[in-house]
Amino acid sequence: MATRLDGRQLAAELEQRLQTVIAERLERAGRPPGLAVLRVGDDPASGVYVANKEKACTRIGVTNHGAHLPADTPPAEVLEAIQRLNADPMVDGILLQLPLPAGLDEAPLLAAIDPEKDADGLHTLNLGRLLKGEPGPRSCTPAGVMALLAHAGIELAGKRAVVVGRSILVGQPMALMLQAANATVSVAHSRTRDLSALTREADVLVVAAGRPRMVGAEHVKPGAVVVDVGIHRLDPDPAAGPGAKARLCGDVRYEEVEPIASAITPVPGGVGPMTVTLLLVNTVASWCRRCGLDEPLADLLP
Ligand code: NAP
Repeated sequence: MATRLDGRQLAAELEQRLQTVIAERLERAGRPPGLAVLRVGDDPASGVYVANKEKACTRIGVTNHGAHLPADTPPAEVLEAIQRLNADPMVDGILLQLPLPAGLDEAPLLAAIDPEKDADGLHTLNLGRLLKGEPGPRSCTPAGVMALLAHAGIELAGKRAVVVGRSILVGQPMALMLQAANATVSVAHSRTRDLSALTREADVLVVAAGRPRMVGAEHVKPGAVVVDVGIHRLDPDPAAGPGAKARLCGDVRYEEVEPIASAITPVPGGVGPMTVTLLLVNTVASWCRRCGLDEPLADLLP
């Protein structure tokens, strides 16, 4: 039976650590950390994600400077809102919640966020810092995966790692972080031939393909560590009767892979909670830097 890499549990532990980091430095800083989640329009899934992030802020003592703009806000006004947050001394982290409504181009808006306040770690400058091994905010989802692996004591140096997916959001920064931890990394994508032959070489397999239940037992070497980044909402089970809730699944067929893996993340409760926690880590680390304090979270920003 595989060890379950419990992201919910680790996220709760890290929230406690962040709470302590803030409490111990609040007096010296003279103000609490601040995060601004900027939401434009009414994408329903985004509503749930933003609410989760705001609740997490409240739990650990980060002030929420979020704003919700109407879907028909002109690009220049969204840009102005970002520039105001850039200039606000109380704001340490800014996140532009995606997807944006049709008609708003995300690239120039994301580029306008002050890289020092880039809570998502996806600004071009911060991706460059990751590439060069320089400190800075890190992409939340892959940094969350690294924290889960480290917490479970999974050694990466010299191991074969395969990342399925090459997005800027997950696959690419994931590959860079694994490589920085001295794994030998291959990146698979939709044009990869004979995917299962490649993934069966992996000691550590990270799947971020965005394809529900794509990866099964035939893709996994016995004893491998399997991290499932995918998250998909399935229709409720018809057998569960009326009023049943939508089910979640990942990119991995958990029930097939769990018996042969040495460790595996569940969906939900694996990578997802860690992504929100790393958003807080980036924000609190930025607060420490901006207030001239020490850097107590460097181990979580690989
Ligand atoms: P994405 O932008 O759609 O990228 C998917 C990647 O997978 C692409 O590089 C694509 O290849 C590759 N791919 C697609 N089909 C494939 C196949 N059959 N074989 C091999 N590679 C294939 O998705 P993303 O933003 O990286 O997200 C991936 C998944 O993670 C999604 O389910 C998303 O919802 C989830 N996610 C979860 C969290 C979390 O906190 N848990 C955070 C972010 C994302 P090409 O480049 O060739 O198209």
